[in-house]
Amino acid sequence: MPDPSTTSGAGATTPDATADLTADLTANPDVTPLTAPRPASALATAQAQLASAVEILGYDDGLHRMLATPRREMNVAIPLRRDDGSVELFTGYRVQHNISRGPGKGGLRYAPSVDVDEVRALAMWMTWKCAVVDVPYGGAKGGVTIDPSRYSRAELERVTRRYTSEIMPIIGPERDIMAPDIGTDEQTMAWVMDTYSVNLGYTIPAVTTGKPLPVGGSLGRATATSRGVVHAAAAALGDAGVRLDEVTTAVQGFGKVGSHAARFLHEAGARVVAVSDQFGGIRAADGLDVPALLTHVAHTGSVVGFEGADAVSNAELLALDVDVLVPAAVENVLDEHTAGRVKARWVVEGANGPTTTGGDRVLAERGIVVVPDILANAGGVVVSYFEWVQANQAYWWTEHEIAERLEQRMASAYAAVSALSRRESLSLRDAALVIGVRRVAEAHQIRGLYP
Ligand code: NAD
Repeated sequence: MPDPSTTSGAGATTPDATADLTADLTANPDVTPLTAPRPASALATAQAQLASAVEILGYDDGLHRMLATPRREMNVAIPLRRDDGSVELFTGYRVQHNISRGPGKGGLRYAPSVDVDEVRALAMWMTWKCAVVDVPYGGAKGGVTIDPSRYSRAELERVTRRYTSEIMPIIGPERDIMAPDIGTDEQTMAWVMDTYSVNLGYTIPAVTTGKPLPVGGSLGRATATSRGVVHAAAAALGDAGVRLDEVTTAVQGFGKVGSHAARFLHEAGARVVAVSDQFGGIRAADGLDVPALLTHVAHTGSVVGFEGADAVSNAELLALDVDVLVPAAVENVLDEHTAGRVKARWVVEGANGPTTTGGDRVLAERGIVVVPDILANAGGVVVSYFEWVQANQAYWWTEHEIAERLEQRMASAYAAVSALSRRESLSLRDAALVIGVRRVAEAHQIRGLYP
């Protein structure tokens, strides 16, 4: 399905030319070096997804390389003086994958698994996600390789402030705007905003989103990703004439995304039969009392031990006999092996990159519909965009306005992806990627290549 208005240079890319793009990029000293990703790494998945979209769109190799290569990256050393006086050193990253449609936008992750390739993958997914829901942003992501559960609040504040001051030259409301991700929260965003503002001498709320309400956060932001997941699930089910109150569901991950997704699914009438977190999972065939579970988690810090439920492992949860599976934790949980055991009819990706390329192939072969991350979890960036718009205008919208606009954006993005998928016989993932990648390529094409 080549679109001549968005291709550049001579001819279409052949499948052979794009088969191993990463190896090609690594071998070629003239392009930004990309560390060769590990097999089934998030970056390998992201690059393979882009290669698939590029092949469908018929783009040439030059454009493919531009789309595949991060525009700008910063690695920083973060020394922390611990509460006991000793000093530890961490590494932090900020990757701006693409800024052709607007400022970089993307979360900040604190996890021991963070490395530059993971951040590159997450930044690339942000680029396509912002384009799919048509918000005027590019894609970016940040991370610090740290296990936040091992550090005090004061230590995490110092890490956050030092990281922010190190990456100050490349962030800002018109350059790159941060939001919470795994291991960070609205307090982290307040520290980032404060550090940035104090250094510049005045308050600049629009440098982060997902902030607390008293410092310019938006109503509805904390639950926006989860609301979007449920809108996307409802729309996908609707394509098959099924309603949320007719289905059973299992949710992996019970953090900012998974916990509210479980709550909204429960409120919509779906039977939530299993949930999990990093410590383990629980199941109840008749459905979990999600409000009571939220209280349990607030007191204990985990879903484990919830009264009246049986234990289930994270691996078992993925293979439960439910209608809708919502992975909302980490990457690569559905690979070619685990995907073969999935019994759900729909997989709605709350997490970024939960399905590997092999996993995608197996799910497709088995007729399981995957609502892809760059569509299903885009509600967060949609309301982040609303928060940024409100901060720039210094004018605040009601929760009802936010919820209504979010639902409209999710509905129109889903409708466009679903229509393209039907028209061109593409998976929802390929259709979403084609829409996102084409919008970014169009921006490149229209802006032209400088100099
Ligand atoms: P979070 O830190 O609030 O929650 C993560 C949850 O996953 C926790 O319950 C944790 O215990 C669990 N978990 C961690 N490792 C696990 C493992 N190996 N197996 C099972 N569970 C595990 O993070 P979050 O913000 O909810 O993010 C979850 C996912 O959603 C990530 O992929 C993130 O990039 C994506 N996402 C988040 C947002 C957002 O607005 N927060 C937006 C879009 C996408």
